[in-house]
Amino acid sequence: MVLRQLDCTHGENGVDGTRAAKKSAVLHRDLGYDFLPLAEGDGNHLVLEDGRRIFDASGGASVGCIGWGNERVARAVMKQMLAIPYCATVFYTTRVQEELCRYLVDSTNGNMGRAYIVNSGSEAMEAAVKLARQYFLELSPSQNKRTRFISRRQSYHGITLGALAVGGHEFRRAKFEPLLMKNVSRVSPCNSFRGKNPGETDEDYVARLAKELDDEFQAVGPETVCAFVAEPVVGAALGCVPSIPGYFEAVQAVCRKYGALLIFDEVMCGMGRTGTLHAWEQEGVVPDIQTIGKALGGGYQPVAGVLASRRVVDVLESGSSVFVHGHTYQGHPAGCAAALEVQRIIRDEGLLANVQAMGELLSRRLQERLGAHPNVGNIRGRGLFWGIEFVADKEKMDPFPVEDHVAVAICERGLAKDYCVSVYPGTGSADGIRGDHIIVSPAFNVRSDEIEWIVDAIARLVDDFFAAGI
Ligand code: PLP
Repeated sequence: MVLRQLDCTHGENGVDGTRAAKKSAVLHRDLGYDFLPLAEGDGNHLVLEDGRRIFDASGGASVGCIGWGNERVARAVMKQMLAIPYCATVFYTTRVQEELCRYLVDSTNGNMGRAYIVNSGSEAMEAAVKLARQYFLELSPSQNKRTRFISRRQSYHGITLGALAVGGHEFRRAKFEPLLMKNVSRVSPCNSFRGKNPGETDEDYVARLAKELDDEFQAVGPETVCAFVAEPVVGAALGCVPSIPGYFEAVQAVCRKYGALLIFDEVMCGMGRTGTLHAWEQEGVVPDIQTIGKALGGGYQPVAGVLASRRVVDVLESGSSVFVHGHTYQGHPAGCAAALEVQRIIRDEGLLANVQAMGELLSRRLQERLGAHPNVGNIRGRGLFWGIEFVADKEKMDPFPVEDHVAVAICERGLAKDYCVSVYPGTGSADGIRGDHIIVSPAFNVRSDEIEWIVDAIARLVDDFFAAGI
């Protein structure tokens, strides 16, 4: 029996045609799958124990951003671990935590007031949700009715119960629905590929979505809403879908009208992934609370965070001054050391400019090589964060049946010797249940010859996959 892992359900035959799950003590995501034994990382390559070298064209789940085996980061973490590996944050702080938070706050041009460091994106989202609630409690007793959140369908905000409740990833929510808090409602995502009506202009589409949000505030009672929550560029649930110009300005205006906060989940799309350090820099709005993760520490340590705007921090500072939240390992010194060094490397090596330049090349080449493919419905993204959505019928934009596991099967085939390219699968991009996409999100230091190689490998992979028949 195969226990399917999240939505990354594996194909039937394993990477090399074998399907014999080894006995393992690990409660793997899929207990019936033969996972590939990963031995090391070397720059932008993953090296398996059998010596096979796979180009990591997605940084795992859009995590890796400076490649693997970086000695500068390893030394910084080692130095911190020898100095002090753990900090009980009830009484102490560390220089490295202070420096990292200062670095993050300063990167926002004074818009954010303080940073809170945790170990995963889900933890960051849990903290963001509680911070929004506490903000209103501290703001005024008249605001204590604000207990609701509005988010978007086909969004993903994390796997823990609070974060899962706020998100709109139907597959990941389904089994746990009865356990999830009920004070969340969802509106449509901004997805010009599937959401726009025929002939509708961008302006009309934005106005329609803003009205839908406004109507939702009215339906649930505007005085009960804490925050609207969204990913500026939707990652796992839609496959790198940016909003169209003016959307977030319109959405923020609705939030402001009703006094609610705007929370941006930049766990996947933030910290440089889309070409600016913060994805909101390209949206013309600044969120009130922002979460960050993956590219913060680039995979060198489990580290994520919450940035709270001056508006939120001022209220807390002049109120109780106590954020009623905390983890044993918050502000972990090794995580902070890794994140600080990764961020300094991004700055010192001018990697944001490289994300922009290589992103343009990647988008152009993907369109050239795959844009006309009969099973490629849409290629979209920003910076080095690109999604390819597959369709069974290009004209009708019909997705493949869920049980074909097209995205996972493509990614799995990509790992085989003929291609040796690692990209990341996702499902639900058509209607929340059906729809397959893969994510291409190489490290920020990727070179142009590597982009050419990646696109060539992916194009061969997609051609061969569909030519072989599903
Ligand atoms: N938010 C977004 C947008 C994500 O993409 C993810 C993970 O993919 C999370 C939150 C949860 O982060 P983590 O898996 O580190 O808990």
